Amino acid sequence: MQTDRIRDAVRELLIAIGENPDRPELSQTPQKVAEAYASFFRGIGQDPHAALSQTMPAQNTELVMLKDIELVSICEHHLLPFTGFAHIAYLPSENIVGLGRLANLVEILSARPQLQENLTNQIADAIEKALTPKGVLVVIEAKHQCVASRGARQPEVNTITLASRGAYNDVAQRQEAMALLSVSA
Ligand SMILES: [Zn+2]
Repeated sequence: MQTDRIRDAVRELLIAIGENPDRPELSQTPQKVAEAYASFFRGIGQDPHAALSQTMPAQNTELVMLKDIELVSICEHHLLPFTGFAHIAYLPSENIVGLGRLANLVEILSARPQLQENLTNQIADAIEKALTPKGVLVVIEAKHQCVASRGARQPEVNTITLASRGAYNDVAQRQEAMALLSVSA
């Protein structure tokens, strides 16, 4: 992460919008934005599969579900945040993974420029690859700053995306999991 280049770019951006980057109130802004970006995009170059590399033999092959994993990501079209929750359900076959690892996976994949639709699929694909479970279901509900503060200006709109694999392509199985999530989609 080249924070000095981010700093220079933010200074340039301030000039481009007609501001004076040297007025005292803005003097720290390039540095602060550089620090914020370093945090937002800390997942770039991190291997999501490493988060799921340590698996354990499954003793129970019933549904495993994590609800309300907090999510902060940055929309790659506008570089504005979208925030909400990810919910993950899977049906183990041979192996399971530590629950914290799934939250870790969400964090790594969120901390890069993203589209909610792709993020949802990438989480499902990573779990499928690491655990070869019988089924995976990932649901993300998020509010997008780019929808709230520009264009359509709809601050309350929740965007819900879903990715299903294996057994969860079956409507009845999926509905059962969705009922547990109490998500309206
Ligand atoms: Zn956007």
